[in-house]
Amino acid sequence: MNITIGNTKLVLLKGDITQQDTEAIVNAANSSLMGGGGVDGAIHRAGGPQILEECKQIRATSGKCPPGQCVITGGGNLKARYVIHAVGPIWYGGNKNEDQLLQSAYYNSLQMAVEKGIKTISFPSISTGAYRFPIERAAKICLTTIKHFPRLGELKEVRMVLFSDRDLEVYKNAWKEIELEENEK
Ligand code: ADP
Repeated sequence: MNITIGNTKLVLLKGDITQQDTEAIVNAANSSLMGGGGVDGAIHRAGGPQILEECKQIRATSGKCPPGQCVITGGGNLKARYVIHAVGPIWYGGNKNEDQLLQSAYYNSLQMAVEKGIKTISFPSISTGAYRFPIERAAKICLTTIKHFPRLGELKEVRMVLFSDRDLEVYKNAWKEIELEENEK
């Protein structure tokens, strides 16, 4: 599904984040920045040891990366030149600021991208795997954050890379709901 927002293309597709040819891809990282399962494991496997080396240096100088924040490294052997390691919230039921932290993870990654002059970026569905954030709710937060990002016009393409047909359907439906809700206002 291709969506046009001003001069920016928002693409929702099924795929593997490690294979994307955008300038940056986003990792669903954890606070340790030391790798993990899911997207994180796949990115470090596909990108090679250079990415972990850079993460270790960041850890040594700046410490852990709290939920909602992100750091940037090179892309190692990936097609993408950069990896933005964003830490989403763990879902504890919804009363631990999870929504706000998920929004920050997307917002801060977009901000990092425009500050680096990056024009094309791919995201996975942050927090909806091991971190158990309900995907319908996450999809709405994600797409609303992208749609209303103040500097969106500086990005040519934002790609949401979903790992299953079902996840892709959830994101497509979330987009339709957002459009309906915002058009009623
Ligand atoms: P988190 O710990 O933030 O929940 P995960 O990596 O466990 O992150 O999962 C986030 C989402 O990414 C899940 O929906 C999962 O199915 C999906 N996913 C896993 N591997 C990949 C991949 N290679 N490319 C894109 N999405 C992936």
